[in-house]
Amino acid sequence: MKRTSRDIRTANRYQVLRQIIAASPTSRQELAAATGLSVATVATLVGELLDLALITEVGFEDSAGGRPRGLVAVNASGGTLIGVDLAETYVRVELFDLALNVLARAQESTRPGDSRPEQVVGHVATAVGAVLARAGVEGARVLGAGVSVPGQVDRDTGVAEYAPNWDWHDVPLLELLSGHISCPLYLDNPLRACAVAELWFGAARGHGDAVVVNLGTGVGAGLVLGGGVHRGVSNSAGEWGHTTLVLDGRACHCGNRGCVETYTGAPGIMLNLRELSPDSPLLHDGDQTATVDALAGAVRAGDPVALGVLRHTARYLGAGVADLVNLFNPEVVVLSSWVAAAFGEPLLDEVRAAVTRHALRRPLAATRIVLSPIPTDPVCLGAATFALEGALRSAGRGGADRATTGRR
Ligand SMILES: [Zn+2]
Repeated sequence: MKRTSRDIRTANRYQVLRQIIAASPTSRQELAAATGLSVATVATLVGELLDLALITEVGFEDSAGGRPRGLVAVNASGGTLIGVDLAETYVRVELFDLALNVLARAQESTRPGDSRPEQVVGHVATAVGAVLARAGVEGARVLGAGVSVPGQVDRDTGVAEYAPNWDWHDVPLLELLSGHISCPLYLDNPLRACAVAELWFGAARGHGDAVVVNLGTGVGAGLVLGGGVHRGVSNSAGEWGHTTLVLDGRACHCGNRGCVETYTGAPGIMLNLRELSPDSPLLHDGDQTATVDALAGAVRAGDPVALGVLRHTARYLGAGVADLVNLFNPEVVVLSSWVAAAFGEPLLDEVRAAVTRHALRRPLAATRIVLSPIPTDPVCLGAATFALEGALRSAGRGGADRATTGRR
């Protein structure tokens, strides 16, 4: 893969802004020490970030007898970013300032018969209007909006190529959205959104190699390799949920059998419960969220059926996560998304025990398995980060070039 000097410059720009967001206010010297870049390189990058108004000068600090050092901080009020999480059962939109604090959020439910592209786009437009009104922000201050949609996406053309749960094929999503939203738009999927969120703000920050395991309705792995998100040749890397865990196992909507997702995604967990206890009152027919919430509550109360389901699910997850540990030798494995958040520590404990039974000793010893520390929706946060990265890519380029970085 060809890495141009522009790619390296962009990666350095990400790294410097990430560090400023993590440790504002800070000096160019501290940034150089934290990132391993030279003070001269940092000074150039800081100049670009100042030009973009993403950061601001905030005074000086004494430096033991030397010249006072200029301090910079993230310019929280310099603009806003929008993150859109299109999930199977809801559309969630969050508005962020440039320090990635949530200014406003809105959510619309989508019913199964309510998933034609025009309907979903309508929900997004309504929710975006609601967050802008709630925060009292004009559209002109929005630097960009990132959109996460499950399945296969072409981020260059803004097309949702295949979203299995909605049976979408080649939907020109960003083009449809651009009729309602005037800022630059960026498209990717939840695996990449969760990986970027952890890389910038969560458990993967400062780590070169990390795996972000996304446990929701669908299941997948966001891969951070060599300090950046790994996308593969057609932006499809990380479809771990559709690797085969059980030969001739449960039928998966992808057409295969025995996929990891069919045992560990929310519908798979419902099936695990149904097999163990067909008449369980924890089972809410047709409602994944209610069933997972009921199970998680019952686990905390020590209910033996719920604990049995948790252990059973963690056995499958542990075997799958051990594969990821053996394949990628990561420093950290992060359990993310709403199913992981619902079960919390009990799931983490069971998964750690199961991974220990399956992974090779050496890569296992180098890996920490943790829950995502991100307190808000990591998909919205990651989607907004795509927009922030888009604004950073445009730094130091001409206007004509800038227009092509996001789709208007
Ligand atoms: Zn599958």
